Amino acid sequence: MVDMSLKVFDLQCEQGHVFEGWFSSADNYEAQQSRGLLSCPVCESTHISKKLSAPRLNVSHLKEADAAPSAATVTPAASATAVASPAASQMTQLQAEVLKHIRQIVRSTENVGARFAEEARRIHDGEATERPIRGTATPQEREELAEEGIAVMPIPAFLDDDRLQ
Ligand SMILES: [Zn+2]
Repeated sequence: MVDMSLKVFDLQCEQGHVFEGWFSSADNYEAQQSRGLLSCPVCESTHISKKLSAPRLNVSHLKEADAAPSAATVTPAASATAVASPAASQMTQLQAEVLKHIRQIVRSTENVGARFAEEARRIHDGEATERPIRGTATPQEREELAEEGIAVMPIPAFLDDDRLQ
């Protein structure tokens, strides 16, 4: 009789990227792996093996499954492997979009430089016009603002084109 439950394996490519592969059976994994039908969702390497430390593995399978993986350029069938992350090219594009968006937000704020903590406090207290600002703050200033309930978001320096010192 056929066991219809899905097997989930932690797989790993030669570069150490770990991802989940879902298979109809352990044999299904072995068949796809030996035909080079599995590929890493991050780097698209087809040098895939089961992750040795995965707790869900059936240990009796390891000795066979861990044999040298075969190389192939065939992409996995859509139904064969469910992956947790998008392909590398999509990921890069997504990151670029997000960074572009954040950069636009950053540019739309008023740069108050080192007066950031002071200005954030004035806005919070209603002494200054409410507006988005950016600037620099020391760790101590950030801590004090947090204690006063003033939310600030750290921005990586490379997103702030004209950061004042
Ligand atoms: Zn990889």
